[in-house]
Amino acid sequence: MIPYDLPMALRSLPAVVLLLLILCASNLPGGEPPFVEYPADLKPYLATLHQRPGSLSFQGESGPELERWRRKARGRLKDLLGLKLMEQTLKEFEPRVELSPAQERTDHLRFSGTIETEPGIRIPFWLLKPKSIGSRPHPLAICSHGHDRIGRHTYAGVWRNEAHRQQGTNRGGPIGIQAVRHGFIALVPATRGLAEEIELPDLKGRHGKRPCRAQLIHALMAGRTAVGERVWDLQRLLDWGLTQPDVDPSKVLMMGNSGGGVLTVHTAAIDPRISIAVPSCSFTSFRSREGYIFHCDCCLIPRVQVELGDFSDIGGLISPRPLLAINGHTDGLHHRPAVERAVARVRRIYRAAGATSQFRHLWGAAGHQFYPDLMWPLIQQWLNHEEGRFHRDPATGLPQSAPPGS
Ligand SMILES: [Zn+2]
Repeated sequence: MIPYDLPMALRSLPAVVLLLLILCASNLPGGEPPFVEYPADLKPYLATLHQRPGSLSFQGESGPELERWRRKARGRLKDLLGLKLMEQTLKEFEPRVELSPAQERTDHLRFSGTIETEPGIRIPFWLLKPKSIGSRPHPLAICSHGHDRIGRHTYAGVWRNEAHRQQGTNRGGPIGIQAVRHGFIALVPATRGLAEEIELPDLKGRHGKRPCRAQLIHALMAGRTAVGERVWDLQRLLDWGLTQPDVDPSKVLMMGNSGGGVLTVHTAAIDPRISIAVPSCSFTSFRSREGYIFHCDCCLIPRVQVELGDFSDIGGLISPRPLLAINGHTDGLHHRPAVERAVARVRRIYRAAGATSQFRHLWGAAGHQFYPDLMWPLIQQWLNHEEGRFHRDPATGLPQSAPPGS
């Protein structure tokens, strides 16, 4: 079978010639430029270590196979993330939200809030609303930051100083404000373990002087993961956000750059309430061909590769909902061949779901940042499409599965 992600010029070649070309390329030492070079004596070990495919990696072609896989893989992912354990141990806990009065800004309203997601864990967030909110329910955007200790301020345009403003806008932000200008109500929370208000200090520098790794170590000891704790926080915030009368619960966009993109993929994979996912500069295979692991330690999920396969399998769990992954052409944290392998696998999963147009991957021209000019037109297009797809129950305003008579 000819790989479907080959350029058209190559696809038009006779199959025999194509096969020879592929065999030659894969046998050349430089067939794919290495991202890193490990010592020669370690290469066989790394190759053996990573050779086993995930037992739950999607291998099917059809819709029914996909549905069966999705049920199993999503359940297992929840387990591996520690979310099932958190559900058990925290089932008596009622999250609490506190919200300050609105602050009026030039073109939006800004509220400062906190949500206690488990005893003693208070996640601060910004809630941003269009100034002329009206009575029509608005789509909701959740904007999750990565390794930036003041990331929620960066995303919400709450600048500490001029240098912060420059840095935030030079990296394609602030996306919380952009979301409001595109008609969303935006929730911009601090990310546990990454934000200054909600980090676990790495006392005595035992964990590389990195609070995110300290969070990971503590979580692993307790049968959790750092990503699982972050997904938990976002789901509790979403529980609250979707009860707000001015929010349309059928339209929930989640987006983030870097670690925020990793979190976007995991949250959307687990939680079908996320209707559009936009991970920026984070979508890739877990590792390069040589065995280099791209994401930060704090994104680690034990056994994930041997059970679920690849990051692309987790991305595929978002199908058939819209997923837009964007990578930066000069982003030094990622490697184009590994990104393209992941993208090809997700395309295959979306094709099995009968939803090829719902997955898009785009390359931005620069580095590790947001690409608003690429993001917003497609988000808007998907939102408008969803508008036409759902019949709303006139009594509740909630979407029904299909228009009557369709
Ligand atoms: Zn980290």
